[in-house]
Amino acid sequence: MKTFKKSATILLTLLIVVLCIAVFAACDPKDDHEHKWQEVENTATCTAAGEIVSKCEVCGEEKREPSEALGHDWDEENIEIVTASDCQKEGAGKVSCKRCPEKKDVVIPKLPHNIKRPVLSKIKPATCTTPGSKEGECDMCKQYVTVEIPALGHDFSGTSVIVSEPSCEGKGIREITCKRKGCDGGENGKPAVQVIESPALGHDWQTRAVVDKDPTFDEAGKRSVHCNRCEKTKDDEVLPKLVAGQKTTYKWRISTASLSI
Ligand SMILES: [Zn+2]
Ligand SMILES: [Zn+2]
Ligand SMILES: [Zn+2]
Ligand SMILES: [Zn+2]
Ligand SMILES: [Zn+2]
Repeated sequence: MKTFKKSATILLTLLIVVLCIAVFAACDPKDDHEHKWQEVENTATCTAAGEIVSKCEVCGEEKREPSEALGHDWDEENIEIVTASDCQKEGAGKVSCKRCPEKKDVVIPKLPHNIKRPVLSKIKPATCTTPGSKEGECDMCKQYVTVEIPALGHDFSGTSVIVSEPSCEGKGIREITCKRKGCDGGENGKPAVQVIESPALGHDWQTRAVVDKDPTFDEAGKRSVHCNRCEKTKDDEVLPKLVAGQKTTYKWRISTASLSI
């Protein structure tokens, strides 16, 4: 029985020691931070999975996570032309991967017909909103074709006209009319108009309240804060009627003498 007690005491002591070490380890200042992971390497390639190796900027600890294959990073802007396109057929080309030697085929879209000398009587000029057209022989395929001329869009580069200036509570409005001759993009076939709005200015409040009406024995007075630009007032305050024989201590303009009647 004694031996049992002894070994139990030893076991308990051991347990306490282990616990103490665990607690002490937890208090280690190095563990007292959120790791700041910085990727240092990714061993994955375009086609094969790999590992992302990250290092903590603070304690230098390393972690490894699986990474999927990256997929090719096609350099779509640099097309290597194999066969050029024209107005009759699409062309063929190749683009390369920015990371590995792999290449893939791409289609080069058809070109529009190119009329060098259109038939003058068949030219329908484009307007701001409606596409036009021209006819003639295509320089590439030598066929007689019709080609669309894209709509021009409105030209709002002119100067604007003030319709209303912005006020404390009202938006400012300016208008610019399309400069292009014959524009019919507006209402009832008139030229198109672009409306430019500027936000309301907001009130420009004075810093002090002013007395609008002095109080008398018969009527209450009023004071308020005024806007420098418009008639609006805020923080309206009633100044009570004067009472005979009573001192008033209102901080309005006659208050300095603390009125006593
Ligand atoms: Zn760390
Ligand atoms: Zn690749
Ligand atoms: Zn053509
Ligand atoms: Zn226009
Ligand atoms: Zn105002």
